[in-house]
Amino acid sequence: MRPNTRTKTKLKRPPQHQRASVDVDIESLLSIENRCGGCAQGERCCCSSFDVCVTPAEMKRIIKVLPSAAKFASHLRTDGGYDNVFDEEEQGLHSIDTTEDGLCLFAYRSKRRIHCSLHSAAAALGLPLARVKPKVCLLWPLHFSEGEEVLSIHDDALVFACNSGTEKGSRELCRGFVDAIELVYGAGCGDQVRQAAERGERRTRLAPRH
Ligand code: SF4
Ligand code: SF4
Repeated sequence: MRPNTRTKTKLKRPPQHQRASVDVDIESLLSIENRCGGCAQGERCCCSSFDVCVTPAEMKRIIKVLPSAAKFASHLRTDGGYDNVFDEEEQGLHSIDTTEDGLCLFAYRSKRRIHCSLHSAAAALGLPLARVKPKVCLLWPLHFSEGEEVLSIHDDALVFACNSGTEKGSRELCRGFVDAIELVYGAGCGDQVRQAAERGERRTRLAPRH
C-alpha cells in the first residue's frame, strides 16, 4: 500500500509479497496489536488512506467475483455491467480506483461502518480470503519497509484507532498478524513467526509456500 493522492509522500510500489524469501522484523510486529471491526464513520480508515496495487493474477481473481462484490457495494454496477475499477500504473501493475474522497471502490458502508465488498464476497461464496482480497490489504498494517524490504509495521499504524501499542517486553504476537502471514505466505508461516517471537528472536526468514 502507499498513501493515496491526498497525502502522497511515497512512490507507488508493486506488491512485495511475491518473493522467494521474506524477512520479518519480529520486534516491529510485537510493538502493536490490531483489532479490526471496520471503521466507524469519521474514523481514519486504511481503505481511504492508501492506494492499493494488485498483480495481474489478483486482478483476474477480483474480476471473477465482481458480481458478488456488487451485491454489497452496489455502486460497482453500471447500466452496461460493472464499473472499471482498475487504473493501469505500469505494465503488470494496476491500482484500485477510489472515490473523490479517497475511499477504495470496493469499500461499502453498512451499519455505520466501512466494510470490504471483496471480503464479504469471499465469505458469501465460501472462498478463501487470499483467493479474493488483495494481499496488501490482508497484511495491513504490516508492509514492506522502504530500503530494507523487510516485513514490518507501517510507520503510520498508530494513527489508526484499531492499532494500539503493546505492553513492553511482551513476546506474544497479535493473532491477526499470525493469521494474515499464514494467509498470504502459506500454511505454517504464521506459526513460524509466532514461535520465533516466543523464542526471543528479533528476525526470521520465511520461505513462502505458494
Ligand atoms: S484495519 Fe483498522 S483502519 Fe482498516 S478497516 Fe479495520 S478498523 Fe479500519
Ligand atoms: S480492497 Fe477491500 S480492504 Fe482493500 S482497500 Fe479496498 S475495501 Fe479496503
